[in-house]
Amino acid sequence: MMSAGMETRSMGAVMAGIEAPVVIPSKPKHNLVSRQAKATDTVVQVGPVALGGPRFVVIAGPCSVESPEQMIATARAVKDSGATILRGGAFKPRTSPYSFQGMGEDGLTLLALAREVTGLPVVTEVMDSEDLAVVAAYADMIQIGARNVQNFSLLKKLGRVNQPILLKRGLMTTIDEFLMSAEYILAAGNPQVVLCERGIRTFETATRNTLDLSAVCVLKERTHLPVIVDPSHAVGARRFVAPLARAAMAVGADGVMVEVHCSPESALCDGDQSLCPSDFAHMMDELVVMGPSLHRAL
Ligand code: PEP
Ligand code: MN
Repeated sequence: MMSAGMETRSMGAVMAGIEAPVVIPSKPKHNLVSRQAKATDTVVQVGPVALGGPRFVVIAGPCSVESPEQMIATARAVKDSGATILRGGAFKPRTSPYSFQGMGEDGLTLLALAREVTGLPVVTEVMDSEDLAVVAAYADMIQIGARNVQNFSLLKKLGRVNQPILLKRGLMTTIDEFLMSAEYILAAGNPQVVLCERGIRTFETATRNTLDLSAVCVLKERTHLPVIVDPSHAVGARRFVAPLARAAMAVGADGVMVEVHCSPESALCDGDQSLCPSDFAHMMDELVVMGPSLHRAL
């Protein structure tokens, strides 16, 4: 079935007897993600949490789901400190094929358990379209990681999902390209997209990536979609996470996503950048104090 605004352009007979219909959304006057297309801020609802509204939203949890104990303890800790969305990866994009790849569907069931225990909605990554149905069955918000930001066939499939999407900027993606990736999802029919700046690759090696805070300002000017910041993957070292989370709030982001682990030294992934629960509680206290001066309650 074709959705509204779609048209079929025939490529003509590519082989005798074979017609290759190509469905291309008809081009709107302005890109759907742009402020010209929609002046008012889009608010994306993730369970009971409004992303892009007046409240600054904090998403927190481990890089990866590792065990029931780890997931439940972390979920409880981040909730106690005021996080309102829980994160945790079950399908992990790892640089090395020999690194922990995630628990797969077993990890999704543990996320669902943590949601049941805490009431927090969950966000988790899908890497491959063959896992989209199972991830969508468990997640309240589906994450597209930095490495898949220009996986256009996956983006088109997310356009046909009736669930919010957390789209992370790629390591080498310009702001225009990032917005075009979001456009793919909207053009295919899903307006519930949240953008996440998570650091880009530059000549600098002192930090894991370079957090492009100016991208937040530019994105907020150009698009009506909510914009959040992931300081953990941007900087790669836990001592810099809280200062960059504060900077994200100051620059006008709609929220942050932060990695938290109850024993970061034994984390199966990204322990160096994971906050322990007490560090996270301290970061939250600071954001609560800062919020009112920026008209941003938590
Ligand atoms: C993550 O959030 O778990 C992750 C892998 O992030 P990124 O895609 O930004 O590297
Ligand atoms: Mn991680």
